[in-house]
Amino acid sequence: MGIVKDSSITEDFVLLDKMSGHEQVVFCNDPATGLQAIIAIHNTTLGPALGGCRMRPYNSLEEALDDVLRLAEGMTYKCAAADVDFGGGKAVIIGDPKTDKTPELFRSFGQYVESLGGRFYTGTDMGTNMEDFVYALKETNNIVGVPEVYGGGGDSSVPTAKGVLYGLQATNQVLFGNNSLSGAVYAIQGLGKVGFKVAEGLLEEGAEIYVTDISDDHVRAIMKKAESAPGIARYVPSDEIYSREADIFVPCAFGGVINDQTINELKVKAIAGSANNQLQTEQHGVELAKRGILYAPDYIINSGGLIQVADELYGANKERVLIKTKEIYNTLLNVYHQAKIGGQSTIEAANHICEKVLETRGRRNNFYTRAVKPKWDIRN
Ligand code: NAD
Repeated sequence: MGIVKDSSITEDFVLLDKMSGHEQVVFCNDPATGLQAIIAIHNTTLGPALGGCRMRPYNSLEEALDDVLRLAEGMTYKCAAADVDFGGGKAVIIGDPKTDKTPELFRSFGQYVESLGGRFYTGTDMGTNMEDFVYALKETNNIVGVPEVYGGGGDSSVPTAKGVLYGLQATNQVLFGNNSLSGAVYAIQGLGKVGFKVAEGLLEEGAEIYVTDISDDHVRAIMKKAESAPGIARYVPSDEIYSREADIFVPCAFGGVINDQTINELKVKAIAGSANNQLQTEQHGVELAKRGILYAPDYIINSGGLIQVADELYGANKERVLIKTKEIYNTLLNVYHQAKIGGQSTIEAANHICEKVLETRGRRNNFYTRAVKPKWDIRN
């Protein structure tokens, strides 16, 4: 028998509707430690859900729920594109990372993760760091991205930056018919953990780069690198980076950079960088395609870090991570090709490829049971 709707509980149905695309949503409430968190598992067709844990002082439970649902769904696509044996999930802790963190809070969070019996693996995201999860690790093994001494793979920005460089090679292959990094001109926004390494890699290859960052120290550091590298670096004020004439815009700072305003300023042939959620809406991806600007879907080009944390479950191995990260080159070439032959934007083509993977694997998984210890459970 289905649920009978009653107009007095309409709001509950709005909530249920929101969550209907997700397999499981867990609300965690522990008054003893003050933990209030939500864990969302979107889809486990490819394996247990994997996704970071954000900590933010959300204004309402609804805001936190919207965030975790959206981010968990995004992880399903990211895992499918990276071909890691994980599904999509995410967690959010409601609280101020500057004032509300305690070891007990993260131990409590670890207990909730453990209670999911291996259906959810998590680690750092905005507002949380590796040290926080050392406490969660006392309660559960299902934590990734911890310091190397605890079995983690190390700084994830290293493979992320490598993946971006492979993605830039694939983009050059389509733009210029060769995958050399040296011939193109790049406009890099953000010289943080990832952007700096990307800029450094390009300078070492002899490329010409324009750079911007709101941190003078970061700009100075890359200028210093450029002095002894074959490439050339030039500084651009941060509001001029969008209109800089270059071959490729490389966003490595924050999301929403492709929006109604910036799209009209762009004078590049392609966009390929590490920032998450670069398109303000998917429609902006369609608009880029109409304007003949090649867009590297962010969740594919920036998946090096995900590949590393997923690899930890087999015992961290940097060489294996590098081999898999290199695949970003072929994955992106395939996306560009499918978009071209399908007359679609690259973001539509990428999403379609991921949905096909989920559909095929979902059907195939019906042929056998997972009664035995699954392959990914190596740490336990
Ligand atoms: P980060 O915080 O180390 O670096 C961000 C940099 O952007 C900082 O140097 C900051 O000063 C600069 N910045 C901020 N606002 C700016 C502005 N208006 N103009 C120019 N520069 C500005 O972060 P990160 O780890 O290098 O990540 C960069 C992006 O890549 C983020 O969107 C992140 O979500 C995404 N990403 C990172 C990883 C990873 O492994 N670190 C993995 C996947 C995606």
